[in-house]
Amino acid sequence: MEGQRVDKLNSTLEEIKSTVGEQDSKKMELDKCKRIIQKLSSFSTDCEECYRHFIDLEAHIEHLMDKKDSLVEDDFKHHKQKIGDIRSHLQKQHKLVPSGYYMSIYMSLGISLGVVLGLLIFDNIGLGLPFGISIGLAIGVGVDEDAKKKGLTL
Ligand SMILES: [Zn+2]
Repeated sequence: MEGQRVDKLNSTLEEIKSTVGEQDSKKMELDKCKRIIQKLSSFSTDCEECYRHFIDLEAHIEHLMDKKDSLVEDDFKHHKQKIGDIRSHLQKQHKLVPSGYYMSIYMSLGISLGVVLGLLIFDNIGLGLPFGISIGLAIGVGVDEDAKKKGLTL
């Protein structure tokens, strides 16, 4: 996928963002959209589905741009669904994870560990929990950083 098309989409997204305002662009996860576009374009040479998603998203964003002054609830819904579909493809086929994904996993592991340690060693859950949580956090942040470095996060 030519970088030009990606650049054009990004600037279109910026324009939509400045029109709809902070709140709606958060709602539409426009920043996430950019990352998704980046990923789709990098996979599109090898993955037909990414290529199709890219074309589809491109048309969709142009459509949003056309009616950026008069977007209604249905447009947001439609948009969310599209992004959701693409995201699930990227996660399933290309093994991408949402940013902060590992942290939430290790965090919950840390909490269970904290409970177990608290009960077994300290005889006090309140003492074990902070311990478990800080271990979970430390590992999770590290793994997230690593995934990010390898370009595996969305
Ligand atoms: Zn793909």
